[in-house]
Amino acid sequence: MDYQSIITEIAGELEQIPKQGELAVYIPELAKVDPNKFALNIHTIEYQDYNFGDVDDRFSIQSISKVFALTKAYMIHGSDLWKRVGVEPSGNPFNSLVQLEYENGIPRNPFINAGALVIADILCDSLEHPKEDMISFVRKLSGNNSINYNIKVAESEKNMGYNNAAQINLMKSFGNINNDIEYVLDFYYHLCSIEMSVKELSKSFMLYVNHGVLMPENERLLNYSRSKRMNALMQTCGFYDEAGQFSFKVGLPGKSGVGGGIVAIYPEKYSVAVWSPLLNKKGNSFLGMKALEMLTTKTRLSIF
Ligand code: GLN
Repeated sequence: MDYQSIITEIAGELEQIPKQGELAVYIPELAKVDPNKFALNIHTIEYQDYNFGDVDDRFSIQSISKVFALTKAYMIHGSDLWKRVGVEPSGNPFNSLVQLEYENGIPRNPFINAGALVIADILCDSLEHPKEDMISFVRKLSGNNSINYNIKVAESEKNMGYNNAAQINLMKSFGNINNDIEYVLDFYYHLCSIEMSVKELSKSFMLYVNHGVLMPENERLLNYSRSKRMNALMQTCGFYDEAGQFSFKVGLPGKSGVGGGIVAIYPEKYSVAVWSPLLNKKGNSFLGMKALEMLTTKTRLSIF
């Protein structure tokens, strides 16, 4: 497969599309990002890398970090997690509060904000140094020790974090949060503020391409069943109320973030990360979605 020609062709076609979408202005630091940035990286199971654009620039991974947090919590607690968070698509925006009250403070899934806050609470209970331990984990998955939190982004989100504060307070009132609310929120905002490049993101998602085995160390982190379930959750819940569209148009398990990044995987073949900061109305990268749709159509490599 000539991935390099295909991604160059995709980039050319994307240039013809009028720019649409908005930066994630509700996090003031993210409103400062250059909206014209674009990067795409494919990492294959054969350790080949294919690149286009600003592939070494690090950006705010935001909700993509929810996959790393869930992985860590799943490794520690296994299926006990599902007592506190569901595995159904929400059909609602990532920050919606409406279902939470109806469903007694049990979030629909770990990839909406409420679900990720419960996972953050669980990690606060089980990790001695949550921030240090999680950044080490992400460094290990990506094989890069310089990956870090962006404290300014974390602070910026905290200062405007009324919605997340509402979510966690509501869940605490239902008894689904154990720790101090400020402690969990601070940890959650730090996770969202992690900065990575598309190269580092696709490399770290090789874990899910490779059925839970970290390459090239050959270390199993998730058993086959858990790895299958991680991919299923990315497929059904990775794009909030656009998960159906993403399956329909792209057809890969994946996860997006309001920093404009999207990572998707094809089991046993490749992982792909794309970054374009302008977001559609559902909070997913406008050009990122288009790029991945073109990729799976041109390569005929969607899981469907
Ligand atoms: N930090 C963001 C928030 O909590 C993450 C949302 C996202 O990337 N979809 O709102």
